[in-house]
Order: sequence, then C-alpha cells, then structure tokens
Amino acid sequence: MEFDLIDVIRARCDLARADVVLGIGDDAALLAPPPGHELAVSTDALVEGVHFPRGTAPRDVGWKALAVNLSDLAAMGATPAWALLTLILPQADAAFVGDFAEGFSELAAAHHVALVGGDTTRGPLAIGVTVHGFVPASCALRRDGARIGDLVFVTGTLGDAAAGLRCLDARGADVADDVRAVLVERLDRPTPRVAAGLALREHASACIDVSDGLVADLGHVAKRSSVGIELDARALPASPALLAAFDEDARIVLQAAGGDDYELAFTVAPERAGDVQRDLARIGCGATRIGRVVEGDGVRLLDGEGRDIALPRAGWEHFA
Ligand code: ADP
Ligand code: MG
Repeated sequence: MEFDLIDVIRARCDLARADVVLGIGDDAALLAPPPGHELAVSTDALVEGVHFPRGTAPRDVGWKALAVNLSDLAAMGATPAWALLTLILPQADAAFVGDFAEGFSELAAAHHVALVGGDTTRGPLAIGVTVHGFVPASCALRRDGARIGDLVFVTGTLGDAAAGLRCLDARGADVADDVRAVLVERLDRPTPRVAAGLALREHASACIDVSDGLVADLGHVAKRSSVGIELDARALPASPALLAAFDEDARIVLQAAGGDDYELAFTVAPERAGDVQRDLARIGCGATRIGRVVEGDGVRLLDGEGRDIALPRAGWEHFA
C-alpha cells in the first residue's frame, strides 16, 4: 500500500540498530530485546484538530507524534529503542510525508530510536505511533508505588503548552510575539524527559508524565496507589514566558489543568528528595517540590491559606 510513501519515510528514518534483525519491508519486524530486561510498550494516536491544531507544520507533527510516545517510556524509566508508525492520510501527499518524517526522525535520532515498521493508509489525517523500550527487570517506574508521607515533585515548568494553544486564538491576543513564539514552541515540540526518567528509577516511588494536565494525571497516581495528593498552587513551577504572558489566576489553571506539558510528575520518600534533585540537576533537569502524599483519595490543589482551588475542568477528558 502506497509504496512510494513508505520509501519517503524509510529514506528519512534510516537509523540502524544492532538489535533490529529485520526492519521495514517484510510482513513483520524482527527484534532482539536484551536479556534480563522487560519490554516497555506504549502507543498514542494524534488526530488533527484534536491533538494538534489544524495548520501545525508537518515537521512539528512528526516530532510531536514521537515525543508524546517517548514521554510515556520516560515515565516508566525505560530506554527507548524501536517505533512503529501508522499514518492515515487524506491523500498521498509526499511533501507532507517527507516533512513529517524529518521531524519524526530528528527526535528519533536524538534518542537512538529505530523506525521498524508501520502502516500507511487513506482517511482523515491521523497518526499512530507505538514505541518499545527496555527496563531492567522489576525496575520500571509505576503509578502504584506512592506512599503516604512521600513528597511530590515535577520536572521543568508547567503550563507553557496550554498557554501556547491559547496564543493561537483570541485569548492570547495581547501576548508579545517573542513570548508567544516560546509558548507555541513548547506546544509543537515537547521534549520527552527520557534522561530524567532513567535517573528517577533509583529514587521515585511513582511516576507519570503530564499529558492531560497535572491534577488529572496525578489523579491516576493517587487512584492506583490508593492515596491522596495535596498540591501547593504557589509552588507550581512557571517559565519566564508564562510569567510574562498570563496573570496568576490564569497561570494556575494553565499549570494545573492545561495539558501537553510532557514533564514528569513523581513521588519520592522525603529522605531521598535531596538525592533526586542532585541526580536530576546533573543531567540539567530542574525539579520542583509541589506537594505531598496524604491519606485519603484524589488530588487537592490548595492556595496559601490551605483552601481548595476549583479548576474549570480536571484536565483533558477523552470524549468529553
Ligand atoms: P502489509 O501489507 O504486509 O501490511 P505494507 O504494504 O502495509 O505491508 O507495508 C510494507 C512494509 O512497510 C512493512 O514492513 C511495514 O511495516 C512498512 N511500513 C508501512 N507503512 C509504514 C510507515 N508509515 N512507517 C514505517 N514503516 C511502514
Ligand atoms: Mg500494512
């Protein structure tokens, strides 16, 4: 099916790995996982108009399609290795596919990920990516390990991507051009925290990547771990761009409920908090303490007086 398009992809995504016995071109790929490791497998789809705005540059779509998947591997503490790509295209547009593949391949090369197969077919523009990574047996970071008394941290800063999305419509009309560019870049080109995920394997009790919104995503950790989480709204880390563009009330909503950050939120026992920050700093990754794990259930976002802050919606809800 669409062999010339597959050739276009293959020419741009040609990274070779010794553990790929047979890549693109046969009925299935043949792959050799390293002994003693578990395979971490994850898949995520991007639909135009739902997961990226219409008109997003094809290169950025290619980057983001892989980035959101690598972020899931990062959240498991897995080392990425292989990817599969399903492309659903309205027409056989070789220019789109070429640019898409370049963005995809740029990020794949940075993480030494080989594209080993996929499917290409006709339909409304949508992209599915499946990634495979390795993690030493029983060392993966999971959502169900948070313990009462643990501290909650998040890498990097929150809210930029959601702010970037606002900048694309009337709500961001007042934002200065240079600030807008920084925010939209975070929306279009998220950086998966792969190295941070590996560093966290030593320390974190639970971990999740922030894709739907901090409060919604930490809600999954709370539920799977049978605990409650309290977050200090004043502690949520903001970038200089976010601080410049939105006032405090708008900012808190973007940071706590805006999606697409692809930072890692994790829990850690208090006695390991210093080590975790040191190890992350070593790889150039900031981490901020934003809350704690408590008895109970659900996630509460608290202001300076300990009062609950209500959010307009608890993150992105599929089919809402
Ligand atoms: P089949 O009919 O066996 O599914 P296809 O014609 O769909 O074969 O694909 C031929 C080869 O090209 C397969 O190895 C498949 O994995 C690969 N392939 C198809 N589409 C893509 C894609 N979008 N990205 C990477 N590899 C692809
Ligand atoms: Mg096929």
